[in-house]
Amino acid sequence: MINAEVIIVGGGVIGSSIAHYLAKNKVDVLVLEKNDIGSGASSRNGGGIRQSARDLREMPLAIHAVKNLWPYLSEELGVDVEYHQKGNLRLAKNNQHLKVLEKIVEHGQSVGLDLKMIDGDQVKELCPFVSHEVIGASYCATDGHGNPMTTTLGFYKRARELGARFITGESVKSLIIKKGKISGVKTLENIYEAPIVIVASGLESRSIANTAGIDLPMQKVMLEALITEDQSPMFSQMIGTAASDFYGHQTEHGSFVFGGMTGLEPFDSQEENAVTRNIAAPSICRAILGYFPFFENVKIIRTWSGFLDEMVDHVPVISKVEEVPGLILACGFSGHGYGISPAVGQLIAQMIVEGQPSISLEAFKYDRFKPRV
Ligand SMILES: Cc1cc2nc3c(=O)[nH]c(=O)nc-3n(C[C@H](O)[C@H](O)[C@H](O)COP(=O)(O)OP(=O)(O)OC[C@H]3O[C@@H](n4cnc5c(N)ncnc54)[C@H](O)[C@@H]3O)c2cc1C
Repeated sequence: MINAEVIIVGGGVIGSSIAHYLAKNKVDVLVLEKNDIGSGASSRNGGGIRQSARDLREMPLAIHAVKNLWPYLSEELGVDVEYHQKGNLRLAKNNQHLKVLEKIVEHGQSVGLDLKMIDGDQVKELCPFVSHEVIGASYCATDGHGNPMTTTLGFYKRARELGARFITGESVKSLIIKKGKISGVKTLENIYEAPIVIVASGLESRSIANTAGIDLPMQKVMLEALITEDQSPMFSQMIGTAASDFYGHQTEHGSFVFGGMTGLEPFDSQEENAVTRNIAAPSICRAILGYFPFFENVKIIRTWSGFLDEMVDHVPVISKVEEVPGLILACGFSGHGYGISPAVGQLIAQMIVEGQPSISLEAFKYDRFKPRV
């Protein structure tokens, strides 16, 4: 039996970030990861770090992360997370697109975000490679992008240096409850004890929470992405579109990472492993070429896919479970958890160490879906 003050189930960017901020506060933390660190969605994502076009409930976390955490993260972790704060351009090609973007801008401005509409000429000034068909964009100058893999491994490395323990290849099968309180977790062969357990297991969080009688309206959605061969520096912004048909950015070493939706993503897939489908890359490429004809002769070197833990309202659960003292859920990041991962780690650590987080997490409660009388 191995004991800790806090057990975290899942070594993705969320679990590793929480481990880092807890270890920084001298908490004895143990992370149990069923595969390898970052082997879930955290190593497969598009690297977007954005505040724009987020649900208003997530906005305080995204703004806090961009203002106070991301700019200092490489130094704090001793690993280059390749953070670039060069803005987010969401492109429009017709009036319907402009209407979509105007709503996003109004929404962001209502909470003080530096988000505005710009016209086609201004888009070209910022990003000369866009097609002449682009007639405008929303622009958030403080959005950006990073490297998801080095961020996840950076949190992991620094957490270990600060004393956190990680065990990989250890799959948690159930939560253990004694006298109504959490007392640890069971894996296939071992029992680990702790008075606090944090479930940060991506889409498997639902089945793990189920073992404590807690259910979450979460489903599995597959997303796909691709990377091109290196190009000389072309643009530094994170790019998206009003039609949401693709997004992407140029990485430090010159390749472009692009992702997108085909509209035919398998609904609540029963697949154990995320396997790319032959319709996805061509569909993402068609979308890219519609905005950046330049890519016509650029080769794709790899495609991949990953699963999302999509909540029914597209907003995560970051919450203590009142019925089971000691149980905390940090899951359901619904496709945008990377950008807020430093804030989530820091706020959960504050919740545990100081009794409450410095930014309210009330909007992310696990029981917000219950019918109210
Ligand atoms: C293609 C794609 C593109 C994306 N693009 C972006 C983007 O641009 N910006 C953004 O902010 N977000 C993006 N996301 C979403 C982002 O990747 C996730 O929100 C984030 O990685 C969630 O981190 P996590 O740690 O909660 O989950 P994961 O990284 O999935 O980590 C969960 C971990 O728990 C482990 N685990 C599961 N079950 C158990 C168990 N029983 N016992 C022990 N361990 C277990 C898993 O092996 C895994 O390592 C994208 C996702 C995908 C798939």
